[in-house]
Amino acid sequence: MIKSAAPSLEERLKRMISATGPISVADYMSLCLSDPQDGYYTSQQPIGSGGDFITAPEISQLFGELLGIWMLAIWQQSNRPTPFHLVELGPGRGTLMSDMIRAIATDKEAAKHLHIHLVEISPTLRHEQEKALHGLSGSKFWHESLDTLPEAPLFMVGNEFFDCLPIHQWVFHKSHWHERVIGLDAEGHLRFGLGPLRAISSQQEAAENGAILERSPASEAIMRTISAHLALHGGAGLFIDYGYDAPSYGDTFQAMRHHSYADPLTNPGAHDLTAHVNFDALRKQATEELAKAPPCPMAARPVISQGDFLLAMGLLQRAGQLGTGQSPQTQAKITQAVERLAAPEQMGTLFKCLALMPEKTSLPPAALT
Ligand code: SAH
Repeated sequence: MIKSAAPSLEERLKRMISATGPISVADYMSLCLSDPQDGYYTSQQPIGSGGDFITAPEISQLFGELLGIWMLAIWQQSNRPTPFHLVELGPGRGTLMSDMIRAIATDKEAAKHLHIHLVEISPTLRHEQEKALHGLSGSKFWHESLDTLPEAPLFMVGNEFFDCLPIHQWVFHKSHWHERVIGLDAEGHLRFGLGPLRAISSQQEAAENGAILERSPASEAIMRTISAHLALHGGAGLFIDYGYDAPSYGDTFQAMRHHSYADPLTNPGAHDLTAHVNFDALRKQATEELAKAPPCPMAARPVISQGDFLLAMGLLQRAGQLGTGQSPQTQAKITQAVERLAAPEQMGTLFKCLALMPEKTSLPPAALT
């Protein structure tokens, strides 16, 4: 008997839409990224020169080392709670975590008490993380969501984590906001369309015809969970991503394949789908939850650019140390990495940092005045 091949994700999406109608951008994004069988993160190895995109820790060890120094300093300034629970959301190939661990292990006490928690949905990437962290300090724990993290002070980091969480989009059309949806055209291809009127919030102002507004309730809910945890137990959080820190309009939903832009509606599950992170919305959620923190006053610091953050953490000094005594080629590579990470026209300005930290900590981003 010939067994028929299981329907592709594209086929399943089309059947679902023709049976029950157009779906939101958020539903499309989450099916394409996390479908257990064909989802992008569940079925592929996306990161690095052979994958679809390169992230800051893959550019240079400088990035992870400086983040490790930041985490270590916050832990030291928080009276060294033990175990030292270091948590990463979406750890990719484990490169950031391994560079952070090396920097943290310069403090013997920290290394001894280190517990590493990796929150990851991809079995393929989890395997890569196990290899990358093999032999490094700390007991390692993997989690599928934040729900199983310990009820204790957590020192949390996430790089390019929030950009892959689903967003909803709304389009302003003839005096009303409509949800942007994905349906089928006459030939049966996936197409964007306007859904029924759907309020974003009662305060949402009118805009120009065609304006697009994005929100990520999934990201906001995760930020609330993180902040509520930090308010109750203490710790800190550092989240870096590309995005914007003032309310704005625009379509940032995009697909990447082999380091170039692709059409997000073709080949569902084969492309990395992302959207710019709305840092303004995330910081508001964090501020509201952290305000409930009487035992350990914490604040969401103003959002700053990745360039400013890394420079304030000593990027140039560390790059100088790393290059000392090396060949001119190695020194040129280090200079190139510094530019990619911090130059305004490269990752320096588009990428931003949101830090949730004890009010009294004296570390970048600068304390609230
Ligand atoms: N932080 C890494 C990787 C960024 S790619 C780096 O900077 O190189 C995004 C990562 O988030 C991947 O590891 C992906 O598998 C993971 N991820 C995506 N959605 C997730 C979710 N809902 N929960 C946990 N991890 C998720």
